[in-house]
Amino acid sequence: MKIAVYPGSFDPITCGHLDVIKRASKIVDLLIIGVLNNSSKNALFTPEERVELIERVVKDIPNVRVDSFSGLTVDFAKANGATVLVRGLRAVTDFEYELQIAQTNHKLNPDIDTIFFTTSVEYSYLSSSIAKEVASFGGSVHDLLPEEIIDTVTKKLESKRS
Ligand code: ADP
Repeated sequence: MKIAVYPGSFDPITCGHLDVIKRASKIVDLLIIGVLNNSSKNALFTPEERVELIERVVKDIPNVRVDSFSGLTVDFAKANGATVLVRGLRAVTDFEYELQIAQTNHKLNPDIDTIFFTTSVEYSYLSSSIAKEVASFGGSVHDLLPEEIIDTVTKKLESKRS
């Protein structure tokens, strides 16, 4: 059984993340989305909330599971029997950072390899930060965030403002 982990902040999950999830879930038996519990004070959602938002969005994809973790990604992968890490590449600006993480992870655990999905063109500019920025100024986020979470994200941003 080929198990992969897709690690990230997912604060919150975007249509770009979902695109990677759908494509990755077709080539592995089980895809575990690992929400990094990085205790960032700037995060909009807690790790538990981010997990719940992702679960809402992936509920119809049978071979996808969601969990949160802290510590090293390779340790989380190993504990779950995963040998593959999934990451996404948008522009060249992602490349250097992603290469560094992939090489570090491979050094930490040579049994684990990273595979990259190049972004679909329509999401090449999209990040969680951009989606939050647009939503916080009242712009339409229908092509940026999965429908199931738009209300929650909008309300959360409103509550942070007041
Ligand atoms: P991190 O904080 O670890 O970068 P993110 O949630 O921002 O976590 O992203 C997780 C992964 O998904 C990263 O590899 C990132 O490059 C990728 N990703 C984010 N947005 C997109 C997108 N629009 N298209 C493809 N990959 C993406």
